[in-house]
Amino acid sequence: MAHYVTCVYCKNKFDRDKEPTIQVSARRYAHEECAKKHEENKSQEEKDLEALEKYIMNLFDEPYINARIRKQIKDFKKEYNYTYSGMLKTLIFWFEIKGNSIDKANGGIGIIPFIYNDALKYYYSLYVAKLANENKNIEEYKPKIKEIEIAPPKVEAKKIKLFHFNDEEE
Ligand SMILES: [Zn+2]
Repeated sequence: MAHYVTCVYCKNKFDRDKEPTIQVSARRYAHEECAKKHEENKSQEEKDLEALEKYIMNLFDEPYINARIRKQIKDFKKEYNYTYSGMLKTLIFWFEIKGNSIDKANGGIGIIPFIYNDALKYYYSLYVAKLANENKNIEEYKPKIKEIEIAPPKVEAKKIKLFHFNDEEE
């Protein structure tokens, strides 16, 4: 007899007697593979939260995350769908790159929603600049090297003369 259940993660129906299954709770099941993936994702998110909390504790020089900041983190995630790593990057952008003082922070991270998009733009422009540099390496630097290799010594000599001539004229 088949036991059809719905995977809580991928929402597909499957026979729990035939496929590797994890029982999530009393009457909820998941593919073993889907549950594994979920755990991996969850632990990455947990790591991101840990990094964010560590940064905030350093920022305010406190050994713990107070209830107010804990609530702010929770609210920003829920209301604006911000990620923990996005919030961390936003704080780094505001306090380290923009050099703002924590004196105006009032012991909280309420600044995040006001600058999240600016921070995002900043990191995006860095990313684009990096891509542009990578293209430059291929398109500009390579042909130059080729030109020198191919050019016969005579042409090189002419080029040098031409430069001298121009220099004298100036
Ligand atoms: Zn599944």
